Amino acid sequence: MKERFTALMEKFIALAVLRLPDDVLARLREMRAAEDSPLQKTLYDSYFENLAKAAKLGRPCCQDTGLPHFYIKAGTAFPCLDITAEVLCDAVRRATASVPLRPNAVNFFDEVNTGDNTAERIPWIHWELSPDSAAMEITLYFSGAGCSLPGKAQVFKPSDGYEAIVPFVFDVVSGPGINACPPLVVGIGLGHSMDNAALLAKKACLRLMGTSHHHPQGARLERQILEGLNSLGMGAQGLPGKQAAMAVHIESSGRHTATIACAVSVSCYVHRRGVIRLDHNLSYELPVYQGAAL
Ligand code: SF4
Repeated sequence: MKERFTALMEKFIALAVLRLPDDVLARLREMRAAEDSPLQKTLYDSYFENLAKAAKLGRPCCQDTGLPHFYIKAGTAFPCLDITAEVLCDAVRRATASVPLRPNAVNFFDEVNTGDNTAERIPWIHWELSPDSAAMEITLYFSGAGCSLPGKAQVFKPSDGYEAIVPFVFDVVSGPGINACPPLVVGIGLGHSMDNAALLAKKACLRLMGTSHHHPQGARLERQILEGLNSLGMGAQGLPGKQAAMAVHIESSGRHTATIACAVSVSCYVHRRGVIRLDHNLSYELPVYQGAAL
């Protein structure tokens, strides 16, 4: 079972680094159609050419294959729960050699590349448990340097109001976000402290395109920020164009009455967010990759 699980995850890692999810591709096509300048059309055409060549040649669609992050929703009765972390580490090591992935992981203070994309707490694994389930859903995200560098968090005072969130997000996207290969997915985490807002910002980045915050006011803020970012005159690669952002997603938690924490996490046009659903005997579904098999 362990070897089967590891081999499956190695193939899933390869798929997620070679091919963008269907919803992201559909959104990028929609965005190309909405741009009318020859410069922007050419940039989108080069993106699609790059993605097509990656699929044809079996090569990663960006040279920076990032660091792997796994966000796991695990049924408490999933039979491989106790070996999952070990399986994911082994699968990352194997995929680094077999795909290959660029070795990016360095341990703090040692400053030596480990060569296999594993290091202290890398791959990054985040767990959520689902009671009364024997299934597991794994969302894999490759966190490249370009799209990790703009990330920022701040805790505001209630007197700053929810209004403080908007310029904070705009400063991130129109400043360091330009270097993150736009159009961007902008994840905004709203909570009570810097750490919980930061986790929520990453989770917001990972949401499916076309989904909205569950609260009508959250959904309205998502739409307003998206419209605002897409009226900055910034397009693909931060060059003049009509759309800087693919999506703006907000995830929130309750907050302390005296704090408003906001974090922003961005992802680039190479939004490598794969999802696999496993049942108790490791049969799988790939909900964001129609027609794919491992
Ligand atoms: S920002 Fe994204 S597309 Fe640009 S180099 Fe980094 S991983 Fe690649």
